[in-house]
Amino acid sequence: MSEQPQWRKKASEFKSDAKIFIDGSFFDAASGKTFDNISPSQNKVIGQIASGDVEDVNRAVASAKKVFDAGTWRDMNPRDKKAIMLRWAQLLGEHREELAFLEAIDTGRPISDALSVDAPNSTRVIQWYAETIDKTYDEIAPAPRNALAMITREPLGVIGAVVPWNYPMMITSWKLGPAIAMGNSIVVKPAENSSLSALKMAELAVAAGLPEGVFNVVPGRGSEAGQALARHMDVAKIAFTGSGPTGRKMMAYAAESNMKQVSLELGGKSPQVVLKDCTDLEAAASTIAWAIYYNAGQTCNAGSRIIVEKEIKEELFAHLHKFLESFKVGNQFDPATQMAGLVSNLQRDRVNAYLDLIGHDGEKVIFGGEKTTGHDLLIQPTLIDNVKPDSRLAQEEIFGPVLVAIDATDEDDALRLANATEYGLAASVWTNNIAKAHKFARKLRAGTVWVNTFDMLDVITPFGGFGASGSGRDKSLHAIDAYSALKTTWVDLN
Ligand code: NAP
Ligand code: MG
Repeated sequence: MSEQPQWRKKASEFKSDAKIFIDGSFFDAASGKTFDNISPSQNKVIGQIASGDVEDVNRAVASAKKVFDAGTWRDMNPRDKKAIMLRWAQLLGEHREELAFLEAIDTGRPISDALSVDAPNSTRVIQWYAETIDKTYDEIAPAPRNALAMITREPLGVIGAVVPWNYPMMITSWKLGPAIAMGNSIVVKPAENSSLSALKMAELAVAAGLPEGVFNVVPGRGSEAGQALARHMDVAKIAFTGSGPTGRKMMAYAAESNMKQVSLELGGKSPQVVLKDCTDLEAAASTIAWAIYYNAGQTCNAGSRIIVEKEIKEELFAHLHKFLESFKVGNQFDPATQMAGLVSNLQRDRVNAYLDLIGHDGEKVIFGGEKTTGHDLLIQPTLIDNVKPDSRLAQEEIFGPVLVAIDATDEDDALRLANATEYGLAASVWTNNIAKAHKFARKLRAGTVWVNTFDMLDVITPFGGFGASGSGRDKSLHAIDAYSALKTTWVDLN
C-alpha cells in the first residue's frame, strides 16, 4: 500500500478541545481548569481537555444516579433497549473513520490498526451486548412445589470506569457493553492521553437514543477525577484497567468509602513458550513478533517473554530477524506502517530505563535495544537474549517493543519459567504434540492460553488474569454477571 498523505494532512490541521459530558451535554470543568492534549507523534498540542475533579464527578454521578433511580433505562422494555444499543452500534460503525482518527492522533498508534482493529472491534462489542439484552434469561430454583424461588439479575446502579490509554476505545467498550446492557448507568474517566474517543462514543450513544445521564464522561487527572469516582459513595462498582499500583489504590479507595465492588484488569509479562518439537518455526516467529511488537508492546497481554528450548533458539532467532526485514516501522499516519512510536515521552522514558539495564548481568542484544531521546518516541523492535529469569527485565512489565528471551533446558523447565512471575494474564505454547499442548496449557497460570498462536481475542470469550494481573473478567456472557447482582425472590404458593 502506498502512503496516503491525507491522514498526515488531516493530523497536521486537526484541533479539538474536549469537554466533560454529563447528562447529554458538554461542559467546562467546574474549576475552569484544562490540560494540553498532545499528539505524541507530532509532538504538538492539538487542543485543551477539561480537567474534571471532585465537583464534576459529583455532578456526573448525580446525573447517572438520577436516571437509574427513575428507571428510564433500567426498566425500559428489553426490545426497545436492544434497538437503541443497536442503533448506537450502527452510528459507531458509520463514524468508523472519525473514531479511528481520534484514537490514532491521541495515542500515536498506526492509523491502519485504529481503522481495522480498534474502531470495528469496539463497535462489535456494543452490538454483541445489545444482542444479549433480549436473550438473557433468569432462573427458577428447584424449590418445593408449594413455593416459587426466582433468581433474577439486578443492575448494580452507577458504574465508575477508569480506563487506560493503550486501547482506549476497546477497553472502554468492554465496560460499556455489559454495564449498559444490564441497565446500569456509567461514568467513564478516560486516561489523560486519550479522552477523545470516549467522548465521541458518548455523544453517539445519546444521538442513538440512550437516555441522557446513562453514559457520562469526565476527563481529568487520575489523582483527581479518577480518585473522586473511586471514592464516591453512590458508585456501586469500579471497573478498572491499568497498572498494578493504581489497581491497589482502587481497592483502598473502595475499602475507605462504601466497599464498592472492584474489578481489576492489570498488567502482564506473558510467556511465549516454544518447545523443540515445534516444526514450523517460521510461522511461530511471525506470530511471536506480532505478539510483542503490535501497538509497540503497549498491550497488557503482550507476549513479552520467549521461553525457548535451547536446541532451537538460534533457528528461531534467525526467523525473527527475517520477519523484521519486512515489518514496517514508521510514521503512524502512513497506512503501510505496522508499528509506530510510543504514547508519550513519559512512557518512552520508562522503556528507556529498562533498556539501560541491558548488559548489567550478561544480557545480549540480538536486535534493537537503542534508547531514543528528545521527542523521538519510536523505539525499534528489540530482542534481548541471556536474560536471567529473576531479573527486572524478565519480571517487570516494560510496556514497550522489548522481547526478552530465556533459555529452557527441557519442557518441565519451560513450564516452571513460564509460571515464574507474579502475573498471570496470558501465555502461549508452541508444540506439534497435541496431547502435550493440552497438558501444558492446563498447567500454565494464565487467564488466556494460546496453543500454536497468540492474540486470538474476541468478545465471545472472557479476558482477565490471575495474581497480579488482576481479578474479574471482561467480555463474554460472564461479564454480565460482573455488572449485576443476583436477587432471590421466594413466593409462598400455599
Ligand atoms: P495508570 O496510572 O494505572 O493509569 C490508568 C488509569 O488510571 C488512567 O485513567 C489514570 O489517569 C488513572 N489513574 C491514575 N492514578 C489514579 C489514581 N490515583 N486514582 C484513580 N485513577 C488513577 O497507568 P499509567 O501510569 O498510564 O501507565 C503506567 C504503567 O501501567 C505502564 O507502563 C504499563 O506498564 C501499565 N499499564 C497497563 C495497562 C493495561 O492494560 N493493563 C494499561 C496502561 C498501563 P491518568 O491518565 O490521569 O494518569
Ligand atoms: Mg492525547
